Amino acid sequence: MDRVLITGGAGFIGSHLCARFLHEGCEVICIDNFSTGRPANIYPFRNHEGFQLITYDVTGYLHIKGPVSLVLHFASPASPKDFLEMPIQTLKVGSLGTHKALGLAKAKNAGFLLASTSEVYGDPEEHPQSESYTGRVDPVGLRGVYDEAKRFAEAMVMAYHRSHGIPTRIARIFNTYGPGMRVGDGRVLPNFFTQALRNEPLTIYGDGSHTRSFCYIDDLVEGLYRLCFTDYSEPVNLGNPEEISMLDLAREIIRITGSRSSLEFRELPEGDPVRRRPDIRLAMERLDWKPLVDRKTGLQKTLDYFRGNNGLNA
Ligand code: UDP
Repeated sequence: MDRVLITGGAGFIGSHLCARFLHEGCEVICIDNFSTGRPANIYPFRNHEGFQLITYDVTGYLHIKGPVSLVLHFASPASPKDFLEMPIQTLKVGSLGTHKALGLAKAKNAGFLLASTSEVYGDPEEHPQSESYTGRVDPVGLRGVYDEAKRFAEAMVMAYHRSHGIPTRIARIFNTYGPGMRVGDGRVLPNFFTQALRNEPLTIYGDGSHTRSFCYIDDLVEGLYRLCFTDYSEPVNLGNPEEISMLDLAREIIRITGSRSSLEFRELPEGDPVRRRPDIRLAMERLDWKPLVDRKTGLQKTLDYFRGNNGLNA
C-alpha cells in the first residue's frame, strides 16, 4: 500500500482518508473536481511531501504516471441536496467515474475500494438493514439518481472482480458525521448545528419520527482502512447502529449548543427513507471492527468544528 489514489479526496470522507493514508506513510494522490469537495478539507496536508492534488473530473479518462497500489473511489455528490441539484453529474460519476477508476486499478494491478451507501437499500422494509437485503429503490424517484448510480457502481465493481480478478471491496456507508462536513450541504447535522448556533429554528422534515443512525468519521475511517486489508469482496455495511429520531436529534443539538432555537416542521422530501440502521455483524466478524465513539462525544467534537474557523466561517 505505498501509493494510494483517492477520488473525491477533497470531500468530507475522502479528505479524512487522505490524512489517514498519509499518516500510515503512504503517498496519496487526491483527485477532485471540487463540485462538492473543498480546498479547506485538504489544506492541512497540502504541502505534505507525499501528497499530490489533481483537479479533475473522474468521469474523464484517468491517466496517472507511475505505480498505484490502491484506488479508493469516493468521488460523488452524497448529500440529498447536492445530488438533487446535480442529478446528471451524480449518475455520471457513479457509472462512468466508477468505470474509469476500475480501469485504472486494472491497468495498475491495484486494489479497489468503492464508497457505496446505505441508499442502495432505498426506503427499506427490512430493519435493521443487512448486506443480504436487496433493497427498495424507485429508479425514477428523485433519489434514484444517487441510489441507482451506486447500485450500478456495485454491479460494475463485482463484474471487474469476477471478470478480471481485481481485488475489490465495497463499503456500504451509512450516515457519517464529524469535522469536515460542509456548511450548507443540506444534511441534517450541518443544518441543525448551523441553525442552533445562529439561534434560528431547527428545520425538521416531516413529524420528526423518521430515524437515522450516525457514525463518527474516525470510526468510519478505521472501518474503511481495515476493509482495504481483508480479502472480502462482497459488500460490507459500515455505520453506527445507534438509531435516533430526527426530533430527538434536534433536541440533543439544542441542548449541547445551549441554543435558544425553536423547532420548525417542514414537509418531508419525496422518497426520504423512514428508518435506517445498519446491521454490522459482518463488519464485526470480518474486520474485527465496531464504532467506538459515542454520539455525545462525536457531537461535541463536531460542534467544536462548526464553531471554529473550518465550519461556519469557511
Ligand atoms: N432532515 C431534517 N431536517 C433537515 C435536514 C434533514 O429533518 O434540515 C432529515 C431528512 O428528512 C432525513 C434525515 O434528516 O430524514 C437525514 O437527512 P440527510 O439529508 O442528513 O441524509 P439522508 O440520510 O436522508 O441521506
